[in-house]
Amino acid sequence: MFRNSLQILSRRALTNNLRAFSTTALNRTESVGAALNSLHTFTEEEEMMRDMVSKFAQDVIQPKVQEMEENEKTDPVVIKELFNQGLMGIETSADLGGAEASFTSAIIAVEEIAKVDASIATLCDVHNTLVNTVLRQHANDELKNKYLSQLATDKVGSFCLTEAGSGSDAFALATRAEKKGDYWVLNGSKMWISNSAEAEIFLVFANIDPSKGYKGISCFLVEKDMGVKIAKKEKKLGIRASSTCVLDFDEVKVPESNVVGELGKGYRYAIEILNEGRIGIAAQMLGIAQGVYEQTMPYLFQRKQFNTYIGDFQGMQHQYAKIATDIEAARLLTYNAARLKEEGKSFVKEAAMAKLFACQVAEESASKCIEWLGGVGFTRELPAEKFYRDAKIGSIYEGTSNIQLQTIAKHIAAQYRQ
Ligand SMILES: Cc1cc2nc3c(=O)[nH]c(=O)nc-3n(C[C@H](O)[C@H](O)[C@H](O)COP(=O)(O)OP(=O)(O)OC[C@H]3O[C@@H](n4cnc5c(N)ncnc54)[C@H](O)[C@@H]3O)c2cc1C
Repeated sequence: MFRNSLQILSRRALTNNLRAFSTTALNRTESVGAALNSLHTFTEEEEMMRDMVSKFAQDVIQPKVQEMEENEKTDPVVIKELFNQGLMGIETSADLGGAEASFTSAIIAVEEIAKVDASIATLCDVHNTLVNTVLRQHANDELKNKYLSQLATDKVGSFCLTEAGSGSDAFALATRAEKKGDYWVLNGSKMWISNSAEAEIFLVFANIDPSKGYKGISCFLVEKDMGVKIAKKEKKLGIRASSTCVLDFDEVKVPESNVVGELGKGYRYAIEILNEGRIGIAAQMLGIAQGVYEQTMPYLFQRKQFNTYIGDFQGMQHQYAKIATDIEAARLLTYNAARLKEEGKSFVKEAAMAKLFACQVAEESASKCIEWLGGVGFTRELPAEKFYRDAKIGSIYEGTSNIQLQTIAKHIAAQYRQ
């Protein structure tokens, strides 16, 4: 239903999507004399995405959050509904079963879901902004036709880069791929792989020739049935309903036709996708910050101490004014990075800044909300403590905060170095 309406809108909107920026800008140009829009200006498609995902998150995800958290497992009904609503192929073309929406629409979807549950936001984010996008950008038509449609309609995807010995130093990976006849045979182990308990399609980075160093890294599309084994499911501090597993690849035979893009270019695909994927994590962190803030603020005007609403104490006012400002700043950094990417401009530094800042804001917002709620905020009766635990992952995955700082510094140094 959602997908259909989004697709109908999309065909119209996507033909007009570029126009959406330029015509709004043009109207604005005419009225105020400058081609400028605020970062709160969205296309019709993006507004529709926000409204629909917000409703979906409230109606379908919210009732299951606590149970999924306790079971440390994503409810299969939620996954099925994500597919039914068109949220697993947001940017995938309509002829392959996708919603054919924009990158910013995907970012908005992740943000809206994270307001309710960061675990489901991880699932949706990894599936859309990493797995689908690598295939859309680099796979040949045969692979796209076969797998993007499955990923849009009923199969969850995982992105498998990290290993026990290669985290921040991702290209030190040791998983090997050897050519045997018409197959590549994969041997090795991946660690910390999101969605992997539910996934049936895995993008696996493996080295075809370690003597070439990172230039041997290639990307393979591996189906679960080809022999992907879950060796261990992690028990985590936060995003507990999102599966994170160790995967073993033991003589896994992958058809030659399942090489994604060019052999030896996997390192470039991985760098590029993580650069833009960071905007998705920034959106997830923004959603966490906004979600916990919105759920907490009403309490400040219900609870009285000293015969005064606690939200009316100046000591409290200054705190929520500061958090609201930080959330707004994180929002602007995130949307700006998304817009830069869509406009084909340089966005890597801005994406790193957005992720770095948004994860700090998510942590700080959740921490403050717990304090504002007093004792009850420290219990599991209220969701603030879950938001607090969920926020922590933002400074670790898709590049730690130190790695974001390094990326930002590299761009700044390049600007000033003689
Ligand atoms: C819940 C979860 C889900 C994940 N999902 C996925 C997934 O789906 N797919 C996937 O491939 N990976 C995934 N990861 C892996 C994640 O991307 C890595 O954990 C992350 O890149 C950090 O690697 P590491 O854990 O090995 O830490 P390390 O790289 O060992 O870092 C440890 C510490 O050293 C610091 N450090 C390292 N190098 C430097 C440096 N050069 N300068 C300054 N400080 C440095 C780091 O900032 C960090 O504080 C996931 C991880 C988690 C926890």
